[in-house]
Amino acid sequence: MSVFVIIPAAGLGTRMAGQGRARGRPSKQFAEIGGAPILVHTLKKFDAVDAVTEIVIALRKNEIAVFSSRVERERLRKPVRYVEGGEHRQDSVAAALRSIKAAANDIVLVHDAVRPFVDTDIIENVIESAAQHGAAIAGLPAVDTVKQVDRTAEGAIVVSTMPRARVVMAQTPQGFRYDVLKIAFDEATTDGFVGTDESSLVERSGHEVVVVMGSARNIKITTPADLELAEFYLAQEDRTPSLAG
Ligand code: C5P
Repeated sequence: MSVFVIIPAAGLGTRMAGQGRARGRPSKQFAEIGGAPILVHTLKKFDAVDAVTEIVIALRKNEIAVFSSRVERERLRKPVRYVEGGEHRQDSVAAALRSIKAAANDIVLVHDAVRPFVDTDIIENVIESAAQHGAAIAGLPAVDTVKQVDRTAEGAIVVSTMPRARVVMAQTPQGFRYDVLKIAFDEATTDGFVGTDESSLVERSGHEVVVVMGSARNIKITTPADLELAEFYLAQEDRTPSLAG
């Protein structure tokens, strides 16, 4: 069984505009923590997992040359390939998926470029559960109460409260048997469905998705405040190498 890892990293990171592209700096996945781009830290987490066969990164075309030479300096164990991303995250993942030559029961993991604090246990648990059930995601029980809202000109009006025990915050990696993910993407393309994660495509194709425990550290670096937290986590990993994987 081969395990392919897809990392969509072709976004503009507009929510970090205050300190990103608006000032001519790179998109958020290239922002540096501890002197290296976030995407390099993420890549190293998957490189460290024995079961991983190959890593495919979707990038903007004009970012591939510079980033690939940066990655070469890391002397990673696993082969890393690059594909040109698309307009939406889903298009970027689809482009990477098309480039993979997998058997039906091989595993494809999809992981956000900007979640560098994933660890080996989570990655291996998602692989194992995806191999067993066909589809598995890392998720975290909600600590906040989640409200469903209607968006209005004034902001948002609460429509209902979700029972917290039934809410899980979806993280990545999200792992799927290749045949399950391929069918879900084909159906989404046919129906013009665009989801915010891969699981939503697989759910609508009727396949059960199992949740494995993620971690509170597995944050999606989204805002400048997250970058400060990321520097803190990274310093902790440096002091406690076991936290790194
Ligand atoms: O926009 P969002 O934060 O959900 O993006 C999640 C991930 O998808 C990021 O790693 C981003 O780089 C990636 N992405 C992509 N191609 C796009 C848009 C986003 O690979 N067209």
